[in-house]
Amino acid sequence: MKRFGKIAFTLAACMLVASPALAAEKVRWKLAMTWASTLTPLASPAPKMAKLVSEMTGGNFEIKVDGAEKHKAGLEILDMVKGGQYEMGHTASYYWKGKDITTVFFTSVPFGMTSDEQNAWLYYGDGMKLQQKVYSKFNVLSYPGGNTGVQMGGWFRKEIKTVDDLKGLKMRIPGLAGEVFAKLGVNVTNIAPGELYTSLDRGTIDALEWVGPGMDIKMGFHKIAPFYYAGWHEPASDMQFLINKDEYAKLSLEYKVILDTAMKAVSADMLAENYDASAMAWAQMKTEFPNIKVMIFPKEVLKAMNKANDEVMAAYSAQNAEFKEVYDSQQAYIKKARQWSRMSTQYYLETTQMVEE
Ligand code: CA
Repeated sequence: MKRFGKIAFTLAACMLVASPALAAEKVRWKLAMTWASTLTPLASPAPKMAKLVSEMTGGNFEIKVDGAEKHKAGLEILDMVKGGQYEMGHTASYYWKGKDITTVFFTSVPFGMTSDEQNAWLYYGDGMKLQQKVYSKFNVLSYPGGNTGVQMGGWFRKEIKTVDDLKGLKMRIPGLAGEVFAKLGVNVTNIAPGELYTSLDRGTIDALEWVGPGMDIKMGFHKIAPFYYAGWHEPASDMQFLINKDEYAKLSLEYKVILDTAMKAVSADMLAENYDASAMAWAQMKTEFPNIKVMIFPKEVLKAMNKANDEVMAAYSAQNAEFKEVYDSQQAYIKKARQWSRMSTQYYLETTQMVEE
């Protein structure tokens, strides 16, 4: 008891010494999100991070979060943070594919890493080092800001039995996956989220991918397109915090540590939030719409997709040394880590299934 009292006293003394330094520094930042404030769980990490930072600094470091409904520039976050209109952003790295193709790896790539593998690569492999290297040319820092986990391959009106069934199919599918599908004859388009349901309903598109049950349920796609395919294209989509490098450099060490810690905490939190949202939404969807069919693309189709993906990756690697560097780093990591993913998570799930049968 006496000993505990001494520790408590020492902690209190430390806080007395530390708090005047913290109290002296008032920082007011703004953060722009790609998403509307209501688009949870994607819109969850930024306000949660700002709240943690405010609470950990006794209200001295405040970050005001603007959703897309405010700034109306959801796909210009990188430019706004680089230019200093906002000190921070919350977005997804693959939206900067047109500026720098290598940014795709810090969201997710087709046939890429699971969230376990990606986090291990980012924090304990070369991932974070490579991420900062890629973003240094924009004078910003980039950090993981949440993860959706495995995304579903999308909603289709008709079953895909062969590669021929993909030819001429009109589908909304962004990123490198869109390039892969285009090689297989899919008519790839990108449509604003607000128009997706109408486009599918009116037959402007035949299929689309969005995220997973947790976010898809609000969109209502399951009412129109009953074939729900397992993912291959975004196995672990990471969200992204962007920070203006000059503004970050001005922060005290305490504030840097608090900001880094808060970003890491909410990043892990979003993976759990989206997992919960999808598990709960799927339980509801399959009860209310028993005609939904969960499918895996046939092996022949998956092999064609994988081959087309290898070609897309090889073409970018040949043109761009930095793309090749990050791709090679991920592939080398997967080569080692995938064996562990299989013998741990996959075999465990198979084991529990055997017991249930
Ligand atoms: Ca998606």
